[in-house]
Amino acid sequence: MELTGIMHGQRRIAGSTSKDAVRGQRRVNQQRKDRKSPQVTAKQSRRHLELLWLSRVCKTASHELGHCFGIDHCTYYACVMQGTAGLSEDARQPPYVCPVDTAKLLTATGADEMDWLRALLNFCERFGEDALFAAFAAWLRMRLAELGMGYMEE
Ligand SMILES: [Zn+2]
Ligand SMILES: [Zn+2]
Repeated sequence: MELTGIMHGQRRIAGSTSKDAVRGQRRVNQQRKDRKSPQVTAKQSRRHLELLWLSRVCKTASHELGHCFGIDHCTYYACVMQGTAGLSEDARQPPYVCPVDTAKLLTATGADEMDWLRALLNFCERFGEDALFAAFAAWLRMRLAELGMGYMEE
């Protein structure tokens, strides 16, 4: 099914005309124009950079605290405990802890998983205007719901 869609798309590209190319270029130009439209003030830009800095500090601190509790670099899943070899890899590292390292962390700290996730969610919601904190908050809400406690924001 998916392959059929891809093949269909290839046929359309192969059969496209110069008018299609002109229309496509106009669409791209309009999209670029639309992207520039919202005026970003210096204050918004500064806040964005502050939250980007905070999210990176939080992620690095989480990773290093994991080491303090005896957790080595994760080789199982996408996880905040994965090792990174630079800024680009660091940016791809998720803020959450995988199931394997969650088990290690809960054993090492004796924390209750629901309490821990709720505390993380409360923290992320304080900075909800930032995409990274908002995305992590959404992940935490889903994880809390999965755990069967029915914890969802109104
Ligand atoms: Zn490390
Ligand atoms: Zn892990």
